[in-house]
Parts: sequence; C-alpha cells; structure tokens
Amino acid sequence: MSKVHKEKRKTTRKYQTDFLLLGFIPSSADSKRPECVDCGLVMTNVSMKKSKLFAHQQLKHPASVGKERSYFRKKVELRQKNAPKTLEFCLKKANEHNNKTLKVSYAVSELVAKVGKPHTIAERLVKPAMLICAKELLGEQAANILQKIPLSNDTVKRRQIEMAENLEKQLVEKLKVSKFSLQIDETTINNSALLLTYVRYIDAMGIHEEMLFIKKLIDTRSDTIYAAVYDYLYDNGIPLSNLLQIATDGASAMTGKQNGFVAN
Ligand SMILES: [Zn+2]
Repeated sequence: MSKVHKEKRKTTRKYQTDFLLLGFIPSSADSKRPECVDCGLVMTNVSMKKSKLFAHQQLKHPASVGKERSYFRKKVELRQKNAPKTLEFCLKKANEHNNKTLKVSYAVSELVAKVGKPHTIAERLVKPAMLICAKELLGEQAANILQKIPLSNDTVKRRQIEMAENLEKQLVEKLKVSKFSLQIDETTINNSALLLTYVRYIDAMGIHEEMLFIKKLIDTRSDTIYAAVYDYLYDNGIPLSNLLQIATDGASAMTGKQNGFVAN
C-alpha cells in the first residue's frame, strides 16, 4: 500500500496506466482524466487518487475487484464495440420520431382535402386546436411533440399536391392492366372550356369510379376532345385496347366521334 501511495504522489492529477486494474480508462473527453469503464463516471481532479478510484470500484463494481488486465481490456473492447451502436440507435430513434410527425402531417393534409377546406386551415385552426388540447389534457411535453408536426400552409399544400399526383399515378398503373370505361364531361367556366374525365374500372375489390384528369381545352370541338383524351392515354402509357367504352354527358360534340374513338 505504501508503494502505491508514493506512486500516487509522484504522478497526481493525471491518468496512469495501472488505473485500468481499478476499472478506469482515459476519458474520451479528456485523456488526463480517468473514466470508469463500467458506468462512464469521469473522475474530477480531486477524486483522481487511486484510493478514490478503488473505493468507486469496490462500491459500484465489486465483481471487478482484483481482476487481471485482460479482464478490463475485454470490457474496453466491448465498450468500443457498443459505442457506435448507441449512436446509431439514437439516430434511428430520431428518424422514427421524424417519421411519425411526417406521417401525421400527411394524414392531416389528406383530411383537410377530404373535407374540402382550404389548406390554410391546418396552420390556422387544426394545429392551434391540437396544441390547446394537448397542453390542457396531456401536458407540456405532449404539446411539444405535437408542435413538431409540420403543418404550415406551404407544407400542407405541397403534401396535397404530392398525394393527388400519387393517387393519379396509382390509378394510371391500374388502367394499364385493367379494362375501363370513360365518362367525359365538358364544361365552360369563365369562357374557358374544361374537359372532365372520369374513369370506371373493375378490379378484385369491385367497381371503382374516379376522376382521371381535368384539362383546359382551346375549344369544345370533338376533334379537340378526342385529341386530349388520346394524348392523356398515350402520354401515360395506357393501352387504348383497355378502353371499353366512352360515355358522354350530353356533350353533343362527342356523339359523332364516340364510335370512331372507341374503334381506334
Ligand atoms: Zn463505475
């Protein structure tokens, strides 16, 4: 013990290699300081004496008292192996959290579109209301989590466009492999001719009817309408052979062309 005491006085306030036998390695933050290999405790200048380190080992990690160097080396190795995993785990957790708020952001944007409200309602009403409820009923911490849900006007608008495009993409994929019929309506709004195209198709889930596309037309001549429909199907890679029938809603311009179009 006296030898130990001498040694300690000689090299005070600095990590010594034989600290390893007491379960201490140089700290990653400050290599002069010893850090407990088991619990990560970093000793202060004052508590850097061997007797203090030994006391810590005896009290906190009695199983490692008197063990050989190899025993502690293994622990160091294990610790190094686990260190990056911990970082990975943290990143994964953070991602999961982001994904969750992202998912909610999409769901709320979809809901706003479904009820036919302007996209700005999410920022002006939905989120503030959620925060009031959370603060009152669930606490500040819950409110802080909800606060992170991206629901700004721009975000909601972007999500809605993105989802609409995605829905159209899904629909187009279905029409590439299913027989379908089209319902075509033309309408004039503010002197602009609009072509509204609905599609009806059957898959394993039953009969579906959905809006396929809306297009602004230069006029409502049958050739123009024909070209618009043909272009859409062609541009999206939908085979004309899948088109069974075109129905028009009193659009006289189409009547003459209808048979010829389907025959194509
Ligand atoms: Zn410890």
